[in-house]
Amino acid sequence: MLHDGAHRMHHDIERILFTESQIAQRVRELGQQISQDYEKLLGEKIFREPPIAVGLLRGAVIFLADLARAMPIPLELAFVAISSYGMSSSPGELRVVKDLEVPVAGRHILIVEDIVDTGQTLAHLQELLNARHPASVKICALLDKTPRRARAVKLDYVGFTLTEDAFVVGYGLDYAERYRNLPYIAALKQSAITT
Ligand code: 5GP
Repeated sequence: MLHDGAHRMHHDIERILFTESQIAQRVRELGQQISQDYEKLLGEKIFREPPIAVGLLRGAVIFLADLARAMPIPLELAFVAISSYGMSSSPGELRVVKDLEVPVAGRHILIVEDIVDTGQTLAHLQELLNARHPASVKICALLDKTPRRARAVKLDYVGFTLTEDAFVVGYGLDYAERYRNLPYIAALKQSAITT
């Protein structure tokens, strides 16, 4: 039954870290701040060449959907998907499984990511985009999870900082493709992790 399924999903949650209303409030603040910064940077040019918000599939989809609607400026949306090569490879080996479909030379790019952990994914994407000579690249991450950072990446905008090494789900973040549709961000119970 659908009701039992919904109940089950919430049952797997250990602890809510950020509630739906805390997230909504923070996303509004980020949207305002980022918009003001681009207005200052671009002036009237913002109408001819709006910034491009580049979301990482699939985790950043829900965050980007809300963030974009909190940004009262001209904005284009684009998506990339990056994946690590199989289980046996080192975590540094990443490949682009879905590339941008628009040229970004001379454009202002805002990378929108769900969570930054080691920093490998963002460092890789930054290198890839910089090689295409955009006018600027900024990063907005909903969550900055600091304990396992291996590559230094400059995060221009951060929603929340996580100083504990917890595995979190919800608001776009998954475990085995599930829990992305939870409206809050939470740590999973150990019993829900089947590996
Ligand atoms: P990084 O390359 O920074 O180590 O990892 C970034 C990616 O790892 C994120 O886009 C996300 O897919 C995944 N990731 C890292 N930590 C978590 C977490 O706590 N929960 C979930 N669901 N994914 C995570």
